[in-house]
Amino acid sequence: MSKSRARVHYLSYMRALERAEEHHLSVTGRTVRPFDMAPVFQVPSASEPGRVHFVTWVAQDANGNGGSLLCDCIAAWRGAYCQHRAIVRQYLLSQHKMPA
Ligand SMILES: [Zn+2]
Repeated sequence: MSKSRARVHYLSYMRALERAEEHHLSVTGRTVRPFDMAPVFQVPSASEPGRVHFVTWVAQDANGNGGSLLCDCIAAWRGAYCQHRAIVRQYLLSQHKMPA
């Protein structure tokens, strides 16, 4: 990733995290994707009460670093850095792990 692209990426994350914190989102559960054991985190929807989004952490290294987070929500599908992904990234950073 180029330096300017990395900066845009970081700002997208910070904006998404701000919105997630306004909505008091947090990681409420954890599971794994059965076929490759990739970690999957559950985050409630900010707009639809009772709905949960699943954020999958793909292709991390053996120490659990790197890789990227994929969310199943419509914002992520449109290419945005969504609130769910941001809250999972913050959660992983608090555990000293480093996804994109
Ligand atoms: Zn999402």
